[in-house]
Amino acid sequence: MYDLLIKGGRIYDGSGMPSYNGDVAVTGGKIVGIGRLNGGAKRTLNVDGLAVAPGFIDPHTHLDAQLLWDPLGTSSCFHGVTSAIIGNCGLSLAPAKPEDREAVIKSFVRVEAISRRVLEEGVKWKWTTTAEYLDVLGTRLGINAASLVGHIAVRHYVMGEDAVERQATPEEITKMKKLVRQGMEAGAVGFSTNQNPRHIREDKKPVASRLASDEELGSLLDVLGEMNAGVVQLSGGGADSRGRIAYAAQMARRTGRPVLWQSISHSWSRPNHWQEMLANTQRVFQEEGLPIFAMTQAKPFQNRYTLRDAQCFDEFPTWKSAMFNPVPVRKQMFADLELRNKLRAEAIEDQSPSVFPRRWDVIFVDHAKLAKNKSFERKSVQDIARGQEKDGLDCFLDLSLEEDLDTRFVHTNTQGDPQAVCEILKHPAVMIGQSDAGAHMGYDARFGYSTAFLGCWVRDHGIMSLEEAISKLTFRIASIFGLNDRGLLRSGLAADITVFDPTTVNTLEPEYVQDLPGNETRMIQKAAGVPHTVVNGEVVIENGAPTGAYPGKVLRPAAWKS
Ligand SMILES: [Zn+2]
Repeated sequence: MYDLLIKGGRIYDGSGMPSYNGDVAVTGGKIVGIGRLNGGAKRTLNVDGLAVAPGFIDPHTHLDAQLLWDPLGTSSCFHGVTSAIIGNCGLSLAPAKPEDREAVIKSFVRVEAISRRVLEEGVKWKWTTTAEYLDVLGTRLGINAASLVGHIAVRHYVMGEDAVERQATPEEITKMKKLVRQGMEAGAVGFSTNQNPRHIREDKKPVASRLASDEELGSLLDVLGEMNAGVVQLSGGGADSRGRIAYAAQMARRTGRPVLWQSISHSWSRPNHWQEMLANTQRVFQEEGLPIFAMTQAKPFQNRYTLRDAQCFDEFPTWKSAMFNPVPVRKQMFADLELRNKLRAEAIEDQSPSVFPRRWDVIFVDHAKLAKNKSFERKSVQDIARGQEKDGLDCFLDLSLEEDLDTRFVHTNTQGDPQAVCEILKHPAVMIGQSDAGAHMGYDARFGYSTAFLGCWVRDHGIMSLEEAISKLTFRIASIFGLNDRGLLRSGLAADITVFDPTTVNTLEPEYVQDLPGNETRMIQKAAGVPHTVVNGEVVIENGAPTGAYPGKVLRPAAWKS
């Protein structure tokens, strides 16, 4: 008698081989049979020709805090995700002594735009070490989680607030190496760092990892090389992608470990730059045979903001100083016509590469506060400005000032050009993910990277076979992170299984809900065409709704010493 029988599906086993019709049987949390199965089962899901695939593994999330109060990691769980990697971009909640917690919070608040109140109310710090954090996390999980050790936490643990002021001494580097090793022995899947020049803390200081010398970072990564375990996750940014790829290659050469760098994407300010990045990655990946992979996202990055909370202007000095001033001063600055010339020069006229799109035709009004302005919603700033016979910047700032800075705008930072996205997604050295689930919950929701990929790109654009696509979401991610008992449908492996309908699978529009600790609001996103998800042999989502089961585990591969 099986625990669970998934009957009558089409099996996409994760390897990329052709799909076929069959049943999947599960007992004791593991797959015990695939094929035409007639044994009895305590529970049967009749799936009637739907796709049966390994559960998706989301390689880039910031669910470190959220999983503590929301063990399903909503909305990831609705998109077929059965395992999430946390601790990305140098940010993890451990190791952290009581006196380091504030520094970690300051970094999360600004870099990942998770509100301070949510973190203060939602995180009960019951740990110091990575091992203790993983134990707390594992007490109640709906989906599985695996964690990287974050460079920022490690640096604060050893250096305190000096971590955001200076380089480390050789003694401090030795202490940090020890923490990385302890983290890996506690079951971490690798190490993450953050050199993104835009990533600052709440108090405007750079995040701690940005002060690391090459020698420090290299030495910490040597721990992974010595253990022959773990992934290196590099969060970069800025204009010099050639330099970043060279650096990623250098770290792959030095450690022999897989390096995931981010990211390749289309951006409006440099519409052809993705081709150069792809070619450079290809060169080190294929010609030199280095295990270096680039991340990309399947969803455009939608930035929703008001001039009360925007971070997208941080790369421009005058804007940044306005945004860090109290609201009354900020309003005076935005109203000042002299200053507007500076604001215009920095954000629009300057042609140097930026994340901000530098064009008003791709910036839209998402929500107008005043009834008289409602007709502007979903119109571009350029269109509105034309109607008012104004310059785009004047239109943008006048509207916002008239609404007490509560007008919400939306623009697509990256992945706005479908042709470019197709080419990027297809490349074998490119890994799909970067959902950033759990981060910037107030203005974007990309939980549905997997369903967007399967619906929009694989089905509607036909960029690759479904077999290949499933492999990209499962087996390849599991292989890179050393999750050797996941990512494939095979007898003996863990029963993480997603059932979806290839003809309807897609993301749904994000919605706002007020369900965070401290009663704060966030965006969630549901999916179409993903009826069932099984985690460690238990049905977690049935007919699109949570069953109340919490079978998730902390995944501790490779170097774990139990
Ligand atoms: Zn990130």
